[in-house]
Amino acid sequence: MPATRKLPTELDAVIVGAGFSGLYQLYKLRNLGMHVKVVEAGSDIGGTWYWNRYPGARCDVESMHYSYSFDPELEQEWEWTEKYPSQPEILSYIHHVADRHDLRRDVVLDTKVTAAHYDEDSALWTVRTEAGEEVSARYCIMAVGCLSVPKKPEVPGLERFRGDWYHTCDWPESGVDFTGKRVAVIGTGSSGIQAVPIIAKQADALTVFQRTPNFSLPTFNGPIDQDMVADIKSRYREIREESRQSGFGVAIEPPTRSALEVDPDERHRNYEERWQRGNLTGVLQAYTDLLADEEANETAAEFVRGKIREIVDDPETAEKLCPKTYAFGTKRPCLDTGYYETFNSDHVELVDLRETPLVEITDSGVRTSDREYEVDSLVLATGFDAMTGALLNIDIRGRGGQPLREKWQDGPALYLGLNPAGFPNLFTITGPGSPSVLSNMIVSIEQHVEWITDLVEHMRHRELRTVEATETAEKEWTDHVREVGDMTLYPQTDSWYMGANVPGKPRLLMAYLGGVGPYWQKCQEVAANDYEGFALSA
Ligand code: FAD
Ligand code: NAP
Repeated sequence: MPATRKLPTELDAVIVGAGFSGLYQLYKLRNLGMHVKVVEAGSDIGGTWYWNRYPGARCDVESMHYSYSFDPELEQEWEWTEKYPSQPEILSYIHHVADRHDLRRDVVLDTKVTAAHYDEDSALWTVRTEAGEEVSARYCIMAVGCLSVPKKPEVPGLERFRGDWYHTCDWPESGVDFTGKRVAVIGTGSSGIQAVPIIAKQADALTVFQRTPNFSLPTFNGPIDQDMVADIKSRYREIREESRQSGFGVAIEPPTRSALEVDPDERHRNYEERWQRGNLTGVLQAYTDLLADEEANETAAEFVRGKIREIVDDPETAEKLCPKTYAFGTKRPCLDTGYYETFNSDHVELVDLRETPLVEITDSGVRTSDREYEVDSLVLATGFDAMTGALLNIDIRGRGGQPLREKWQDGPALYLGLNPAGFPNLFTITGPGSPSVLSNMIVSIEQHVEWITDLVEHMRHRELRTVEATETAEKEWTDHVREVGDMTLYPQTDSWYMGANVPGKPRLLMAYLGGVGPYWQKCQEVAANDYEGFALSA
């Protein structure tokens, strides 16, 4: 059934966003017998995997782990084709889930939410759309995504550019063919690093504009290993549970030793063996102190730099590609397929924006402090206003008409990353202050959705009207998130985790580093203790 286009005026719950989070939340609340709709700005469901259709877009959590666990039959039936799923495959998986559970009939597409205001007398939220529609609901659930608001480069001139330009996260559905074109890519985060090798295969000439080099490891992607699939499927329940109890949402053997207590040759062998696994956690989780101690981290960073120098023929280009100004892992590391190798092609050029900063986009290309680069097409792989961007794009007002934008002017504050004090019955899925982007996000999404659903069920059962975090609980949790972050190297690096990629954004670590398992235990304890830290009222 196609998604609906009309919003009713009254609902039990409004969910904003139709990605993995919003769709699962719809499924769960509908199962409680509630009248619920999902409101989605895009023209189809899928969230991240609908918008990010750039060439090479792919997940870097392995297929068997980047999937819902709530439907045991589905996880047995669904067949992934590759070790790491591509964007089209993930999108078709999401469509399959939506059809299987008849979710589309409660999704309102092409509808952007602009405001959500809480009314204290009725204890209802009024959610307003760009087209001026209004719907009131007891619960308002923000499933708006951590990486859903694109960030453009802060240089003038884009409107003057006469060629075609694309942002990786708003890619034309029909695709783009760069054959015969001179192309510029600005940005070398995960999106740029995935797109560059494929664009290079099509384009006549490719110029990559790099401000900060990233650490990238090879995926060694390929057809999925069927023996591994059979093994995982035979013990999926157990594996899912282990993932929920793990640090990052995929169970791994935790490291036991410091990088500094190991003989350098043995350490190198260990890194090499882990590099060959082709995953994000291998090298990064080789030793206990890689994310906490600079000297330990440098051993892994230098190992990766050694790999870059081995792969890239031109020593000058290799040095430019080597990250040297921050600790490995404190900016999100990337997984790639042939990224560094791409710079061995004669028609690919790397421009180091630290040497020659970006000045402007001109009508025919990109100008740095050194010269103008004329191109036919421009690809912006410049990232997102992460974590808070989509929430603060909406005019959210809580008790006393307090705007969330005002409450969060010095940075986001929520209890457990789930609810900001003063905003009753409003929940965020994978919000700031939860493990969120520092985890396999499907695991974190399922945890949040299930916790919110249990709370809503509890409220309905007890005929309660409002639930909201207390100021004290919110402050204690927010301080705890900061303290745990400060025990690591993350705060030293300018990254989007810290809000540092968006000028003027408060600089603080927005995700919780205490681990998916311990975080989940805390949420469970809170629920078991009659929702300790929340005020519930009739
Ligand atoms: P999203 O998928 O972002 O969905 C949010 C939806 O809300 C969007 O469709 C958006 O249009 C809608 N929305 C936002 N604001 C409004 C509004 N005001 N009105 C109406 N609708 C609105 N995570 C991993 O764990 N592993 C990975 O390998 C991985 N790879 C990624 C690759 C890319 C290219 C990107 C961008 C992210 C990746 N992520 C990855 C993170 C990914 O975002 C999550 O895994 C997951 O898909 C998030 O689902 P979600 O439903 O929470 O948010
Ligand atoms: P990103 O990591 O924030 O990278 C953006 C890039 O653009 C950076 O290199 C940044 O440089 C550069 N940039 C931004 N503004 C610029 C400017 N004004 N001038 C020059 N360069 C500029 O964004 P992303 O690559 O889209 O990835 C975001 C996140 O999405 C990832 O970290 C990951 O969590 C997720 N993702 C995952 C995958 C995957 O493989 N599964 C793929 C894509 C995205 P600086 O570093 O100097 O700021």
